[in-house]
Amino acid sequence: MKSVFDTLAAMGHEQVVFCADEPAGYRAIIAIHSTALGPALGGTRLLAYASDEEALVDALRLSRGMTYKNALAGMDVGGGKAVILRGAGPLDRERLFRAHGRFIERLGGRFVTGEDVGTTPADMELIRRETRHVKGLASEGGDPSPWTARGVLRAIQAAARHRWGSDDLAGRTVALQGCGSVGGRLAAELHRAGARLLVADVAPDRARHVAAELGATVVPPDAIASAQADIFAPCALGGVLDDRAVRELRAEIVAGAANNQLLDPRHGEALAARGVLYVPDVVANAGGVLSGGADLFGWPRAEVERRVHAIYDTVLRVLEMAAADGAPPALAAERLAEQRLRGRAAAS
Ligand code: NAD
Repeated sequence: MKSVFDTLAAMGHEQVVFCADEPAGYRAIIAIHSTALGPALGGTRLLAYASDEEALVDALRLSRGMTYKNALAGMDVGGGKAVILRGAGPLDRERLFRAHGRFIERLGGRFVTGEDVGTTPADMELIRRETRHVKGLASEGGDPSPWTARGVLRAIQAAARHRWGSDDLAGRTVALQGCGSVGGRLAAELHRAGARLLVADVAPDRARHVAAELGATVVPPDAIASAQADIFAPCALGGVLDDRAVRELRAEIVAGAANNQLLDPRHGEALAARGVLYVPDVVANAGGVLSGGADLFGWPRAEVERRVHAIYDTVLRVLEMAAADGAPPALAAERLAEQRLRGRAAAS
């Protein structure tokens, strides 16, 4: 097994901080992948992990993804991520998130956080009591999910254009996995665009709610990836594109909000070999980070809208690069991001 430092060197991380405040029930890992373009920006995830190793791997993969996502989105920020390990006992959110805020504060602005799976704008307010290096506060109306959903819609439209020559989604069937903050909104956007919806959620009420509102069909969670659909949109957790999903997938396009959809890079190659067009999640789900530009760089709403809209163009560029190079789109996206990181390194 590789040592921790070898793993960091291989993945290119600058710094990983293990944080603990036992009386607060707080254990967390803050991973700073890159500050080459600016402070490392990335959400804080609260999740029950099977092991500390699993949490570390999640933090390392997610933070690297943030570097690429931010670079591809044209943001002058780097990539990081925090994971808080949810314990078995009751949760005192105030103590937990204030402890987290104190650790972020000690990083002196090298890491700036926001909400993610398991955290809310209200939690960001708690962090804000200890540090100003936090975005997406409830008081700022900072929920990034609507922007993420809009960006995923644009990614799906671009993929449709690349694959079918038209970005019109009317009559297309989309299998949507996860009806949470992003998935629920994406369902509404797709419905407005005329798509037919198959939806699944491990929380059955959420899927039923979307079905009732939008006339979608509910599918059992373990059947959504292999459902008969034109497009599969993963909007739950990562790692969904595994051996089985790749084998059983019937959709021609995969594009969704979930981070780290490919369990392993080889699954991106396997999808390409099967002729499935995969839109790299780092490109498709960048709407959320772009919405942070309002707060970070003072962008007016129209500027955020323009940039989220332009996810369409980035997706087309990545898919065209992939086609030209004969490379899986995930690799093409990494190459495009690294071009930008190298450009910055050369300029400084
Ligand atoms: P969320 O927690 O609000 O929603 C996730 C939903 O998925 C929940 O309803 C959950 O019950 C469901 N789910 C979990 N496992 C499932 C499974 N196996 N099958 C079907 N449903 C399942 O989270 P969210 O904010 O909507 O984010 C969804 C994904 O998008 C995450 O991977 C997140 O990292 C990513 N993402 C979110 C944003 C954002 O702006 N919120 C931005 C970028 C990326």
